[in-house]
Amino acid sequence: MTSSNDLFLDKDETLRRMVATDSFGTYFGVTQKVFDQVWKPLHSPQGNSIIYISMEIGADLDVFNPVADKLRELGVSDGADPAVSPFVHKYLFGPQKIPNYGGGLGILAGDTLKSVASCKLPVLAISLLYKKGYFTQLVDSRLGQISCSQEWHPAETPGLYLLRHPRNPELPLTIEVPFFDEADCVVSGYARLWLQLEINESLDHFVPKILLDYSLPESPSWIREASNHLYDASSEKMKATQRRMLGAGIAPVMDVLGLTAKVFHLNEQHGVVVILHVIAEILLNRLGLDYQSRATDQDILAAADEAAQRIVYTIHTPVKAGHDRFEKSIYAGLSHSFCQRILALLARDDEHPSMFNFTAMAMRVNRATNSVSRLHKLVTRKQFPQFADKISAITNGVHHLTWISPAKAAVFDAFPELKGWRQDPSIFAEARTLAANKRFATYFLQAWTEDTGKLIDFINRMLAEHRIQAQMTWIDPPNFLSHLSDDAPLSPEVFTLGFARRFSTYKRADLIFDDIDTLAGIVTELGHPVNFVYAGKAHPADEPGKHLIRLVLASQQELYEKTGGLAKLVFIPGYDMAIAKLMVAGVHAWLNCPKRPLEASGTSGMKAAMNGVPNVSIMDGWWIEGYHEGQTGWKFGHEDPIDQANLSEDPNTLRYAEDAKSFYELFPKILKSFYEPKERSNYLDKCIMNLILNIPIFNTHRMVAEYAENYNLPLPAAIANRMKKFRSLYRSNAE
Ligand SMILES: *Cc1c(COP(=O)(O)O)cnc(C)c1O
Repeated sequence: MTSSNDLFLDKDETLRRMVATDSFGTYFGVTQKVFDQVWKPLHSPQGNSIIYISMEIGADLDVFNPVADKLRELGVSDGADPAVSPFVHKYLFGPQKIPNYGGGLGILAGDTLKSVASCKLPVLAISLLYKKGYFTQLVDSRLGQISCSQEWHPAETPGLYLLRHPRNPELPLTIEVPFFDEADCVVSGYARLWLQLEINESLDHFVPKILLDYSLPESPSWIREASNHLYDASSEKMKATQRRMLGAGIAPVMDVLGLTAKVFHLNEQHGVVVILHVIAEILLNRLGLDYQSRATDQDILAAADEAAQRIVYTIHTPVKAGHDRFEKSIYAGLSHSFCQRILALLARDDEHPSMFNFTAMAMRVNRATNSVSRLHKLVTRKQFPQFADKISAITNGVHHLTWISPAKAAVFDAFPELKGWRQDPSIFAEARTLAANKRFATYFLQAWTEDTGKLIDFINRMLAEHRIQAQMTWIDPPNFLSHLSDDAPLSPEVFTLGFARRFSTYKRADLIFDDIDTLAGIVTELGHPVNFVYAGKAHPADEPGKHLIRLVLASQQELYEKTGGLAKLVFIPGYDMAIAKLMVAGVHAWLNCPKRPLEASGTSGMKAAMNGVPNVSIMDGWWIEGYHEGQTGWKFGHEDPIDQANLSEDPNTLRYAEDAKSFYELFPKILKSFYEPKERSNYLDKCIMNLILNIPIFNTHRMVAEYAENYNLPLPAAIANRMKKFRSLYRSNAE
């Protein structure tokens, strides 16, 4: 799309050239040439490509959509040429949400693949398509979170294509995925394939994402049911079935699409069943068709060593609930007895002999085990001492083009010091002179004010809507402020502290409300108003997580009254990527208060940093690396050494009182530095230092460059050099 010839094309011709076809369908957004170039290495006999496997992928179109941007830039409305108009219509008016993610893990996957597309690495991703997505969150002030099922329509969603059967385009392309009952009889599951193109910002590369859709009438009902909701936790069998749908689907997808990838990247252990297939394939080649009866334990272990060369594994959390273990009896109803023999050797759980432990298996069989921050590396080594030597760190990042607000991006575009920042976020490291550039500070502040205005407007409108909703539905507004008759309860001038993440116990969403009298005392004594803006979902089966939401809601009125209305605590329901983007760009500081060291990385704080917003955080996860004393934000809470760390989520071990006290000591300093005129420029300096110090490092381009080394595949020279440059800035593995 970027060739100079385009200058001479008229709009219609440009649009027609954005269509590509193959034997499975017709797609929009890239030229045929780009389309063919992307598939070539994925099909090549050398197999120098990667399959990225993830249970969830978060890539909503309302936060990043280069194709729609291009259409707007061309001034395309609707109608036009029949060859393109259905595509154009979808891109301009189709649904913008793809509710195939639950939180950080999925959004990391989405951000990763966007950077992979920018960096043009030979990667194809595989995940599941959930007919009812994750869930939508309603919040009632008395009941707390109400989770609602959500129907979405992949066929109407821009950039998603149902693949067609090459010889019979009336029919969808389907794969057959074998499951087995207790007697080793095959029970086939069937899946259709959706292809989603994750197209990069210059429309000259994309990552194909294949989403397996098992909701076909040919599939048995228990598999169909498992294709409804991401992380359905209604039974252990349901959970195990979903894992198997992902892992066992990989080989049939490769067959039907002719993929040759040598390397599999497991984004968390959910897709670990793929390893069983790699091992079985090695044994088949080595021992012949009757390998199942001939293979000795030694043969299996040797095949596992060989398979390991093809697996890269990222472990994402020290929290037990994040790791799959299943009763062996459950697995006996899903997989072949030979698979269970492999699992018995490789997925032993020494603490629970009756279970298979998928994390243990992923830990054993790989060429690289990556934790997601430097601190998390130490924690993971402590948790898995037998694998300590091979556990290394690749600190997470976020996709800078997704998370930097349009207002701030426009400022970055306007300064020659930052030329090329869209392609290369490391540019910020070379732009240190901006720290002393008054004009830059002024423009930055203007953009930030615009972002804050947007967020506060959004909240004020929401509060008013909830007030109306309360008269029309049974839902009691989730915000005490909706009951006040004030039209615009929140002001953008007021210091606004943001907190949004999954509500799970270790994240301690209610930490700073632990002692409301003390918090209210700080605010009243200084006389500075504060907005506390909260959002986040709890997994529907996570009762303690849902309780945390109720606790936050219950603090609203008390805090308001005890501060004479100076402190306003707002909860935004339905946290998703668009709300996250509004929040991380608009607030004045971003709060992170997990129990150290249970936050392996955390990424929302990186999104804030990309927007220059300072973090106020426990020394956990990425913040150990992003915190520069006095320069990028603040720290609070205990910093006990990791070798003494307690990894439990037990309520008695959560250290609320101690860490809240530490926050109360810090908070007045933050308020003063925001409100006192002589300190204000200091505050702004912190913002700009976030751009200079943290954007170059905590972006997914750098992260992907570190992974590229792990894959150990030859890359074209231009791409390899670019990867080398991103890597040269930072070594996650440095001690
Ligand atoms: C970034 C993001 C997350 C993850 O945030 P953490 O800081 O890692 O907890 C979860 N949900 C949404 C919608 C996000 O945008």
